[in-house]
Amino acid sequence: MSEPVFSPALTSDEGVQLATELFRDTFGTNPQGVWYAPGRVNVIGEHTDYNGGLALPIALPHRAHLALSVRDDRTIRLVSPQTREAVDELNLDEIGPKGSAGEVKGWAAYIAGVAWAMEQAGLGPLPGFDAALYSCVPLGGGLSSSAALECSVAVALADMAGLELDGQPMAGSAHAPNDEGRAQLVTYCVRAENDVAGAPTGGMDQAASLRCHEGHALKLNCRDGSVEHVPFDLAASGLALLVIDTKAPHSLVDGQYAARRAACERAAALMGVDLLADLDPANLAEDMGHLRHLALDDQTATCADAASEIADDADMLVRRTRHVVTEIARTAELVELLKNNERLEGDVLASVGELMNASHDSLRNDYEVTCPELDVTVEAARNAGAHGARMTGGGFGGSAIALVDADAVDTVAQAVVKAYEENGFNPPAFLKAAPSAPAGRLQ
Ligand code: ADP
Ligand code: MG
Repeated sequence: MSEPVFSPALTSDEGVQLATELFRDTFGTNPQGVWYAPGRVNVIGEHTDYNGGLALPIALPHRAHLALSVRDDRTIRLVSPQTREAVDELNLDEIGPKGSAGEVKGWAAYIAGVAWAMEQAGLGPLPGFDAALYSCVPLGGGLSSSAALECSVAVALADMAGLELDGQPMAGSAHAPNDEGRAQLVTYCVRAENDVAGAPTGGMDQAASLRCHEGHALKLNCRDGSVEHVPFDLAASGLALLVIDTKAPHSLVDGQYAARRAACERAAALMGVDLLADLDPANLAEDMGHLRHLALDDQTATCADAASEIADDADMLVRRTRHVVTEIARTAELVELLKNNERLEGDVLASVGELMNASHDSLRNDYEVTCPELDVTVEAARNAGAHGARMTGGGFGGSAIALVDADAVDTVAQAVVKAYEENGFNPPAFLKAAPSAPAGRLQ
């Protein structure tokens, strides 16, 4: 059997050195500074963000490092060794949203898009810049390598251009904006991803990368963007969070995310609420019965499908809604467990694991966003002694997480590798997640 392959996180010194060398080799001078932003993994609270619910991400120790110098013109030049896509010189006067004449192709959209969004918000004109990116966040593994790019450039530009965030000058204040400033940067990064890169994601990834605290999970209220830092010191409890990148081909993703969002919007409209987060989990059974009737009546009146199809559709809507309502409740419950217990052990640890397991099962059965690789991962991890395991991120591939004893990381990883071999899947990759620091400046 093959041994599990772990993707290590670069240390700050390594990140600075690699990004600086790349900058020097490419542009022939030293950068003015090196900034970084982490990827993220969501502990619980999946597909809740666009429903106004709760999520609980942590920042990863895996970061995008960005060596950058501002220029005295409006040109942007970029380099990254993690992609073969070369970037032509861009110009800040020419870039625009996807679908416009200024559309930016490829990964440069995540970087140039942030500068564009800042100028759209009235923070310009910004200087052009040269930037060398060296990231150890796995690309496309559901760990937000894209948000890491955006957030690294957001902190770098805010710093170098001396932007006033929340009315506070950022440069000169140890190069670290306060949380209001960071919340503002989140909005520019989300705009870059939605409008310039053209990926319709919620704001969880960027909030995690910019607003998490080391040793804490971020309770993110997606309705109003408010946050709370919840202690999550795994090492102190002798625990580790193992991330398994399934490497599953994302063949089914197209249209599925939009379909889930549309189902949630339909259910909310039928129930007469703005967002599914408005439904009280205490009334779950009653609300779901009510929703089923409303969906049946609505479809019977408006569509010509056979009765059995209309019943299936109502059932689908109930299951999607049930996932969202119960997932928000599970997230709130897990937050309370973390807040009320310094150490995760005994019954408390068992309850945390059960909530993670229930989250996965709900995403598999009710929300139907898992895939064979994710289900096999979770089952293998649980059988090998994980306290809890679940898919994380949007689903249909990407990554899963397992909460394990610190000394069981290798055993659980080996069990996953074995299960993949038995099922004929691509080999997975692993990384160890510890709640890490948010985006900032290194040098
Ligand atoms: P995820 O954010 O889950 O990793 P996405 O599909 O949202 O997956 O983002 C992946 C994209 O982000 C890549 O296709 C690439 O365009 C860009 N990207 C991420 N990291 C890098 C990097 N180190 N160098 C160049 N582009 C990158
Ligand atoms: Mg992404």
